[in-house]
Amino acid sequence: MSKTFENFVGGQWVAPTTGEYFDNRNPANHSDLIGRFPSSGIADVQRAVESARRGFELWKRTPAPARGDVLRRVGDLMAARKEEIADLMTREMGKPLAETRGDVQEGIDTAYYAATEGRRLFGHTVPSELANKWAMTMRRPIGVCGLITPFNFPMAIPTWKMFPALLCGNSVVLKPAEDVPHTATVLVEILLAAGLPPEVIQLVHGFGEVVGKALVDHPQVPVISFTGSTETGRLVGETCGRMHKRLSLEMGGKNAQIVLDDADLDLALDGVLWGAFGTTGQRCTATSRLLLQSGIHDAFVQRLADRTMQLRLGDGRVAGTDVGPLVNEAAREKVERYIEIGRAQGATLVCGGARATGGALNNGFFFQPTIFSGVTAGSRLDQEEIFGPVLSVIKVENVDEAFAVNNGVRYGLSSSVYTSNVNVAFRAMQDLDNGITYVNAPTIGAEAHLPFGGVKETGNGHREGGWEVYEFYSETKVGYVDYSGALQRAQIDNY
Ligand code: NAD
Repeated sequence: MSKTFENFVGGQWVAPTTGEYFDNRNPANHSDLIGRFPSSGIADVQRAVESARRGFELWKRTPAPARGDVLRRVGDLMAARKEEIADLMTREMGKPLAETRGDVQEGIDTAYYAATEGRRLFGHTVPSELANKWAMTMRRPIGVCGLITPFNFPMAIPTWKMFPALLCGNSVVLKPAEDVPHTATVLVEILLAAGLPPEVIQLVHGFGEVVGKALVDHPQVPVISFTGSTETGRLVGETCGRMHKRLSLEMGGKNAQIVLDDADLDLALDGVLWGAFGTTGQRCTATSRLLLQSGIHDAFVQRLADRTMQLRLGDGRVAGTDVGPLVNEAAREKVERYIEIGRAQGATLVCGGARATGGALNNGFFFQPTIFSGVTAGSRLDQEEIFGPVLSVIKVENVDEAFAVNNGVRYGLSSSVYTSNVNVAFRAMQDLDNGITYVNAPTIGAEAHLPFGGVKETGNGHREGGWEVYEFYSETKVGYVDYSGALQRAQIDNY
């Protein structure tokens, strides 16, 4: 008998008003049913927002250092349950335990960072133009924040949004991706156990087109933070623009690792293996393109193919697994379509290119790590996000061409350059059109205390992580105190 999970709305765990549930299954083993989760409706979102509005009235009056204390306890509780959470996260979305442990650790780091921010949240004190007048800025919470998250970082991404939102004094409604509802449930359990007043947090499970959309459409939700595909982000952005909502978008990527002739090739090889096939290529920062300078191209492709074919596919909860399954059948079918597209556009299949089968692999959504060479700039393999274990190799003649190919896509999340030339390294940081550039390191990975996000169609100018995200979740307010005892007129020509 599988367990049935509920929403957290109005300060309690409640069944959805629809009475409907969906199955959450292990992508490495279809027959492993994790549980049944609410397929909520618009009425559930409405109740959640009403409750969150009450939660906001309470929480915004709680001093920021006290809000930070709750988040510190959240970090402690997550650390105590780290292994258990990593295990259940691997079970519901497939990436190996080493990666899900990292995902939980990112949440812990984000909690501790948020806790200390409760004692900062600085405003400025600024000299006034006028005598005997005080001028300063302060930070105010905004209201109910709607948080819509993807499947690939089931703990890290909700915490990137939720902890700064809460620290700033907002209440939140979380709509997690339908593939990872269990991790989100545990996160909410931890927030409650840490002492967060119940109505400050709401969790509404269900599908994006219903629950996510209802949250975006709701007039009493002034802040939306969305991470997911560029296509969905565009829909969200259109509504938020029309309704004048504050919106943070983190969307797709088409990240490239550049390897120049002067690079440390062993290092570059380890980097691309991890960048392309870690998380089965399902990271927003995944290395989807490998730009190889002509002098090292042929030998590097051969070595890379040899190493790729040695990667061990399997259940991420089994020791020794390098690459887990894709998250669901639709993701696997999308990868298959791109194999056909690559072939049709004349790229050379170096290795992989098919479902991985045999033994236990037959039970899950496995796909062979795949490399195409001979990919041309401008082709669909060069341009489009695949979000799976497919790497496209493009040959370039020099640094200028490598940078142009890197920049010649509509996305701009991360990039990487392997070189021993310090001048090229600094040029890369300056000239590559991405939110993040790594030198002699793969395209993937983020640190909780640094801003994270992308340019062009990857983002809309906001950042998660670090100090910048606290500006997104708070309004700047200016306070003036005139202690002159006379009418002093600003914005009049006093000079
Ligand atoms: P997705 O766009 O399919 O779904 C993301 C979330 O949006 C889910 O919770 C989904 O239910 C919801 N949603 C779907 N339709 C909606 C609608 N009409 N209105 C409101 N919400 C809706 O993305 P995914 O498949 O879960 O994640 C993969 C994508 O996320 C990739 O494109 C990847 O690059 C991107 N991503 C980006 C970052 C980043 O920081 N830039 C990080 C992780 C993932």
